[in-house]
Amino acid sequence: MTNFLPLVEQFHSLQGEGYHAGKSAFFVRLAGCKVGCSWCDTKHSWDEKKYPSISIKKIIDKIKIARKEGASFCVITGGEPLQHNLDNFCKSIKQMTMGAKQNSMKIHIETSGVNSISGTYDWITLSPKRHSPPKNYFLRNSNEIKIIINEKEDIEFAIQIKKEISKQFRLSKIENSLTKEDKIYYLQPGWNNANGFSLAIDFVKNNPDWNLSLQTHKYLKIK
Ligand code: SF4
Repeated sequence: MTNFLPLVEQFHSLQGEGYHAGKSAFFVRLAGCKVGCSWCDTKHSWDEKKYPSISIKKIIDKIKIARKEGASFCVITGGEPLQHNLDNFCKSIKQMTMGAKQNSMKIHIETSGVNSISGTYDWITLSPKRHSPPKNYFLRNSNEIKIIINEKEDIEFAIQIKKEISKQFRLSKIENSLTKEDKIYYLQPGWNNANGFSLAIDFVKNNPDWNLSLQTHKYLKIK
């Protein structure tokens, strides 16, 4: 059972990206990622040995404070958070934030989908990577798909991922799985990448199944 996790930082802010952009959220950034994206904006989080192992109780104590101060959900991010087994962490968040007058805190996760699922989530954001494709579980069960656009090949990858999701739904008879219509598809231009912006905007203009996601927290200069 995992009782300690390597923690880069935890903070209360606004969700900057995707469907929940603009909402009050508490972020838990776990250390460790082996995916190795060249354009990664959290490279400092890759080496988990650089960060202290913090007890999940201590992390959840901060989640509880943020909730009292208005956070609507917590977002587990990284690094690649599913490099760690999060079964006990998620279970403990649910147990420790449940009150007589309130439901437990909602848990969101942001993942590249390369590791096996652990933990249970109210919202899964899949951000698949071209050089390290996601497991089929995430194609079926993610609520939103967010593809980072830096170059033309990323658009081709986005098209291919959407096709792969349709194929998964055709092959899968899994009950309670989200339907493919429930999913929300985003292209998100790489930060400061003019080519990425132009490619993403043009594609979304011509493909109404897709939406543009912007890193609004970076424009606002907040975390
Ligand atoms: S998966 Fe995420 S954290 Fe890991 S290298 Fe890629 S962008 Fe960075």
